[in-house]
Amino acid sequence: MTEPTVENTENNQGNEEEEEQIVTPWDVNAKGGVDYDKLINKFGSQQIDQTLIDRFERITGKRAHPYLRRGIFFSHRDLKEILDHHEAGRKWFLYTGRGPSSGSLHFGHLLPFFFTKYLQDAFNVPLVIQMTNDEKFLWKDITLQQAREFTIGNVKDIIALGFDIEKTFIFSNLDYIQYLYPTTLRISKLLNINQVKNIFGFTDQDAVGKISFPPIQASPCFPESFPHIFPPGTDYSQIKCLIPCAIDQDPYFRMTRDVAQRLGAQKPALIHSKFFPALQGHNTKMSASDVNSAVYLSDNKDVVADKIKKYAFSGGGATKEEQVKFGANLEVDVSFEYLKYMLDDDQKLEEIRVAYGTGKMMTSDVKKILIELMVKICDQHQAARAKVTDEICATFMSIRKMNI
Ligand code: ATP
Ligand code: MG
Repeated sequence: MTEPTVENTENNQGNEEEEEQIVTPWDVNAKGGVDYDKLINKFGSQQIDQTLIDRFERITGKRAHPYLRRGIFFSHRDLKEILDHHEAGRKWFLYTGRGPSSGSLHFGHLLPFFFTKYLQDAFNVPLVIQMTNDEKFLWKDITLQQAREFTIGNVKDIIALGFDIEKTFIFSNLDYIQYLYPTTLRISKLLNINQVKNIFGFTDQDAVGKISFPPIQASPCFPESFPHIFPPGTDYSQIKCLIPCAIDQDPYFRMTRDVAQRLGAQKPALIHSKFFPALQGHNTKMSASDVNSAVYLSDNKDVVADKIKKYAFSGGGATKEEQVKFGANLEVDVSFEYLKYMLDDDQKLEEIRVAYGTGKMMTSDVKKILIELMVKICDQHQAARAKVTDEICATFMSIRKMNI
C-alpha cells in the first residue's frame, strides 16, 4: 500500500514548544501579547494592506468595515483571488463556525460573526455555519447531550445576529455528518497520522477521535458537502470558499489547502482576525472554556459592570496622580482595546485614545463608557434572541434549497 502524502507547502510552522508564543485552535498564550506580524510570518499568510481595503470599498461601494479599517481583520490567504472571482461574476460562498462549549456566545465570538454578516450583506453570497459539537465532546468534559443543548443555545445566538435566512445554512456536525462524510473520507485518505500530528501537535496519548476530527472541519470548504445549495451537476471545481475566522483556526485550513488541489477542488481562502483579549489581558484570548476570561452575551447589566470593573486589566497609572502625569499605556489596556472592537464611532474612539493616553481621562471613565456600550449590545442581543423561536432555528438548520 502506498502511503498517502500531501505537498505540505503551507504546513511549515516549526515547533511550538521552542517559541515564546503559542497560538493553536485550543490555546493562545503569549507573554506580553500576541505578536501578529510574527504569526503572519510563521503561518505564511499575507497582511491585509490598504490596496486590498481600497479594492473592497470599490467593489462593495461602501466604506470598509471598521474591523478592516482598524486592522482587526489583518491577515488573509487568497483574498485577492476571491475578489477577482467575484468581479468575474463567478460562484463562491462563506464558511465559518462555532464549537459550542458554553450556553451562550461571548464577545470574542462576535468578531467572526459580525464580520461574516458584513461580508454576506456586501457580497450577497450563501453562508454555511458549522457547529462542531463533536469537537467539543471530544475535547471537553461534556456529554453528547450537553453538546447538543449548547448547540441549540449557540445557534439562537448566531441567528439573532441577523443572518439572512434565505442564504444561511447552519448545521450541527452530530446531525449533518452523513452529508459531510464522503468529503471527509476523501480528505482523510490524503492525510497520514504524522502530518496531522505535526500540524496540530497531537500526541500518542490523544483520543483517536481528535486525530480524525480535522478532516470534518475541512469538509465544509468544499461545495459538494452541500448538495442542497450546490446541486449535483454543478461544476464544483469552479466554486470558491472564503472563511472568516480568528487566526487560531488557520492550521485546519492550511491542512485543507494542501489537500484541495489533489481533490480537484479550489483551495479555501481565508480572512483572519486578531483575538478579542481575555479580561485579564492580552496574553490570551477571551475563551468560552475559561468563564473568568469572558463577558457573555447572556450576562446581565450587573454582571457586565462587575466583570469590567473588577477584571478588565488596566493600563492606567497606579494612582490618580500617576495617571494624570503619565497617561495610560494603551497597548496593554483591555478596556480601550474592547472599545476598538466595539465602538463604531471613529471620532469618539480617537478622542478617548488621546484623552486616556495623555492622562485627561481615568480608567474608571473609560470603563464607564465600555460598560454602557457592552450592556447596550447585550440588551439588544437578548431582545433579538428572544424572538428566535424553535421554528426559526429549525428552518435555518433544515436541508433546503437556497435562494442564491
Ligand atoms: P473554547 O474556549 O471552547 O475553544 P472558543 O471561545 O475558543 O471556545 P470556538 O467555538 O472554539 O470558541 O471558536 C469559534 C470561532 O470564534 C473561531 O473562528 C474562533 O477563532 C473565534 N474566536 C473564539 N474566541 C475568540 C476571541 N477571543 N477573539 C476572536 N475570535 C475568537
Ligand atoms: Mg476554541
